[in-house]
Amino acid sequence: MSEQAVLKIISGVGAKGPACFLLEAQGKRLMLDLGYGPQPGLWPNVDDVGRVDALLLTHSHKDHIGGLSLMPKIGNPPIFATEITAQKLPGGIDVRPLPMKGRGDVLGIPVDTGRNGHAPGGIWMRFHGGTGLLYTGDYSSESALYAFDPLPKSRTILFDCSYGEDDTPLAERLKILAPHLADDVLLPAPADGRGPDIALHLYRAGKTIRFDDATRAAVRDLIGPARDYLRDGAEADLAKLADAALPPGEPSGATFATPATCSDGSAAKLVAQWENASQPAIVFTGYIPPGTPADALVKKGRGKFLRWSVHPRLSDHITMVRTTGAATVIPAFCDAKLLPALQAALKPATVTMDKVLTLV
Ligand SMILES: [Zn+2]
Repeated sequence: MSEQAVLKIISGVGAKGPACFLLEAQGKRLMLDLGYGPQPGLWPNVDDVGRVDALLLTHSHKDHIGGLSLMPKIGNPPIFATEITAQKLPGGIDVRPLPMKGRGDVLGIPVDTGRNGHAPGGIWMRFHGGTGLLYTGDYSSESALYAFDPLPKSRTILFDCSYGEDDTPLAERLKILAPHLADDVLLPAPADGRGPDIALHLYRAGKTIRFDDATRAAVRDLIGPARDYLRDGAEADLAKLADAALPPGEPSGATFATPATCSDGSAAKLVAQWENASQPAIVFTGYIPPGTPADALVKKGRGKFLRWSVHPRLSDHITMVRTTGAATVIPAFCDAKLLPALQAALKPATVTMDKVLTLV
């Protein structure tokens, strides 16, 4: 059995783009995530990848699972995912289990997992068998809602660098957001991510909360089958919020609607209703893909973008290098021009954006 393994970047390093990586280890070819977007029309190019033995999914966000229609091009391999992520996939797919936290097995290769603090069902994954590779997927250590399990010792880390060298803590962002959330506000936000996180924060501060159907269903899941992904102490308040939340209708309070792009669904409906009025405020809290209705609303001044953190900041990258002992780290989901700054900040680890990396 060869101890040497190779990591190939198909998409997701050097620019914001869909996650798609290939790990060749112990005679197996494992694809890590198969995303789409977040910009409309952005697909990973898997034409030359060939047959893959398994596809492993970190979490159910579109930029990590949205490329499943490309499965025939890689030989329709079995998918490995947590139970909660599997529930969010289209029916009829062969899904095999990965643990939420602990040791899993992918075609004979041991994989350790832990919760990523970013989405229900979301995990990081660390591979054994001489590769020592940790793939964080998206993660956050700052969520008050989603539990995060510390990253394990790893030789090489492919890590979430969505915010690049930004080092603003979530607490600071909350201060910046507060005046914009004080009055009536529409918050188009993902239901299986920061939507419930922001809602819980505002509910704890005494605000009236309104949920569209998707957000309500996601919160019900979080106090039901996905409850193990919650931080200790979050479940009781979230259950109270689920009871108290009103349906959308009047613009009063904080209305949570999906999708965050406002391209369809309840977000599009509510935007059409309120776009030409002065109230409620429309606040976007996450990445806004260019060319979407959300982008247009911000450009014409009707919507505001004020980030709510769901990815790690620079201090987290530095902590990651120190606590894992990683010798080599690969920043994902950020621009290539950040490489020199990251190399300076993350010493003594080697920081690389090479498209092919031999892991020893
Ligand atoms: Zn995500």
